[in-house]
Amino acid sequence: MSEKVFISPGKYVQGKNVIDKTGEYVKPLGHTALVIADKLVWGIAADRVVKSLEQAGITAVKVEFQGEASKNEVNRIADQGRSGKVDIVIGVGGGKTLDTAKAVNELLGSSVVIIPTTASTDAPTSALSVLYTDEGAFDTYSFFSKNPSLILVDTKVISQAPPLFLSSGIADAMATWIEARAVIEARATTMAGGLPTLAAEAIASKCEEVLFDYGLQAYESVKRKVVTPALEAVVEANTLLSGLGFESGGLAGAHAIHNGFTVLEGDIHHLTHGQKVAFGTLVQLALEQRPLTEVERYIDFYLKLELPVTLEDVKLKEASREDLYRVAQAATKEGETAHNLPFAVTADDVLDAILAADQYSQAYKAKIGYKN
Ligand SMILES: [Zn+2]
Repeated sequence: MSEKVFISPGKYVQGKNVIDKTGEYVKPLGHTALVIADKLVWGIAADRVVKSLEQAGITAVKVEFQGEASKNEVNRIADQGRSGKVDIVIGVGGGKTLDTAKAVNELLGSSVVIIPTTASTDAPTSALSVLYTDEGAFDTYSFFSKNPSLILVDTKVISQAPPLFLSSGIADAMATWIEARAVIEARATTMAGGLPTLAAEAIASKCEEVLFDYGLQAYESVKRKVVTPALEAVVEANTLLSGLGFESGGLAGAHAIHNGFTVLEGDIHHLTHGQKVAFGTLVQLALEQRPLTEVERYIDFYLKLELPVTLEDVKLKEASREDLYRVAQAATKEGETAHNLPFAVTADDVLDAILAADQYSQAYKAKIGYKN
């Protein structure tokens, strides 16, 4: 691959209470919308979406998402869209709902609108979904012909979500520059199917700058459920900058290690995507031979956001060496993005880096007298 490729959604809208303008923004896209949300999100946001659609003269077909972004769930919901003859698919909720909406849309050939109710992942803007098995293990990246037509981000809704969602989104977005930097150096292929552009490089780098500058204030803002300029900046970094940055800048070690963790049983399944990515990011930094001051800057930032930095924090204190080797094998299997790093990596290298990242964080905690 020698061409550079940059892809992006049609329109991105962010602000307080924009959810009540859904109808206005969706109107140019069609007449009948399939609205997908889980049980909880119907009460928080999706009913308002439907009300706004109806006010704009758009018919809404309501569907309840069952919780797993799996092929079975995608097919079930697509059938409902077919029988409702919809020409728009709207996903309202968290990463898995949104990934499901995109996959349903691909089957229906309609336009997809994404309305995230948390800033917990960078899933909204991309033309891909992460699909899981019905049991919740990483299954595959599913790539689509186009990015969403519209992303509507209501910062008032996002400010009401538990702080863990925002910190998880910050962790996912913190991986963006670290992974894009590796992909650029390796001249590897991004999720957009080409080499990274200067635009993607600038966006990914800006993403990290915004998070280091405003991440902690944004985290404090959501603890008080208020929308501040710091929160607005971090929501944009988590959603738009990270979304464009990871897709057209590329993924590398952090997400491969995240995917590796999904093969394990037990409590790690209760962690968010971002929590697993946070530890995966530290593992990538260990693999890359980053100097102590640089590594400690990330550990310190994650600790302030109450993100996991050790194996104990990701509920793997008791994991055997064999289990961690399975993680490392999954992270380095053929086609995984660990091979986008600018050097060769084996499962053995990743296992050592997992243990090293854990040790670096333990040493840092001891150095600053950190109490769990
Ligand atoms: Zn991610």
